[in-house]
Amino acid sequence: SLKERLEGIFSKLRGKGRLTEEDINDALREVRRALLEADVNYKIAKDLVERIKERCLGQEVLSSITPAQQVYAVVYEELCNLMGGKKERLNFASKPPSVFMLVGLQGSGKTTTAVKLALKISDSHKPMVVACDLRRPAAVKQLKVLAEKAGIPFFGPDEAGSGDVLGVAKKALRYADDHLIDVVIFDTAGRLHIDEDLMAELEQMHKTLNPHEVLLVIDAMTGQEGVNVAQMFKEKAGITGVILTKLDGDARGGAALAVKAATGVPVKLVGVGEHLEDLEEFDAARMAQRILGMGDMEGLLEKIQKSSDTKEIERVQKNLQDNKFTLEDLLVQLRQIQKLGPLDKVMDMLPLPGKVKSQVSDIDFRRIKHVEAVILSMTPEERRRPEIIKGSRKRRIAMGSGTNVQMVNQVLRQYEQMKEIFKRFGKNKGKLRGLKLPK
Ligand code: GDP
Ligand code: MG
Repeated sequence: SLKERLEGIFSKLRGKGRLTEEDINDALREVRRALLEADVNYKIAKDLVERIKERCLGQEVLSSITPAQQVYAVVYEELCNLMGGKKERLNFASKPPSVFMLVGLQGSGKTTTAVKLALKISDSHKPMVVACDLRRPAAVKQLKVLAEKAGIPFFGPDEAGSGDVLGVAKKALRYADDHLIDVVIFDTAGRLHIDEDLMAELEQMHKTLNPHEVLLVIDAMTGQEGVNVAQMFKEKAGITGVILTKLDGDARGGAALAVKAATGVPVKLVGVGEHLEDLEEFDAARMAQRILGMGDMEGLLEKIQKSSDTKEIERVQKNLQDNKFTLEDLLVQLRQIQKLGPLDKVMDMLPLPGKVKSQVSDIDFRRIKHVEAVILSMTPEERRRPEIIKGSRKRRIAMGSGTNVQMVNQVLRQYEQMKEIFKRFGKNKGKLRGLKLPK
């Protein structure tokens, strides 16, 4: 197709038609480093890099980006997929109350996150937080203070501090029922390390509460260790989701990838600051960018999308073959050529008479908006058969497009020129290969 030929020219300009192993290896070296720096487990990084290499090998080089960028785009896509492309929602009970348990190691952010979460859902729910970290009196107080600050109902052991965890949990559920609370969030005890005692307590709570969500709170700085923690909590506490906290820090967030890869449990929310508002939905795309340590991958993907936007081009191709190149096709072509890059570069390489070349290079693509306006002001019939556009029609089109008759004439001339060029382009297919291209 024309597009392929144009792209072919650009690729040859760089001496590259397909991504070579060298291109890919170069880019992947950087990717591997980025992944390891982001605390992605070595094995996961290795598997990922292998898979990406396979996907990239033999891919056609795109015109608008470098081979390295092209590889990064694939990496980015894979990362997004690995972390679960779709948004992970919290699982609310169909019949209230919804019961959420927050579990995790000490200092990971459970207590803070319990209130953050309550606050986050409070515009569509009536949540309550429950203190079930009864080993440390300070922990109960901390939750109570934060809840008050956020205006969230709080439930805890009575003043005497009596009551075991299960007792408090049951009372809390009864209280919720009586007070039309529809989401009950349980803050649980943590430990510095995983221990049997804690796991036994969580197992019992799980049995008693039959929670709709068990959310493991992990400090993003935990890095590799996060995987072990997640595996353990999955086994013993049946976690259904992960909340990754302290992403406002330096951690690059490899834990998000690692945890999902190791346990299959998705990250659902992220903590991004010390304020109670700083809890956000997990966004795989943003996390992938963070892990790769590079900006605007979406912009890059868009670029790729545009330069491989083939449908329209194929239609134009067909018309060209049938010798039915219309003004609408011209518009498509102009837009497409704009995306490909400087036109004079393309023209220099074409086996066309110098006169045609200079005419085409004169086309002012900054005025493409005018061209568009002119073409859009024509009737469908005029677009298909421009030869019927004479004096009064030209004036009408000029009026309609907010331009003048000269502009209309110019567009019609450009159309004739392009038509001619594309015709030759098609005929000279064989000759193109023999072109002497700059190295
Ligand atoms: P717990 O022991 O798991 O209950 O953890 P806490 O909720 O007491 O939190 C421990 C510390 O981490 C507190 O100082 C919190 O303010 C802080 N923290 C929690 N989440 C975040 C976060 O997303 N960003 C930052 N910067 N600090 C956080
Ligand atoms: Mg706590």
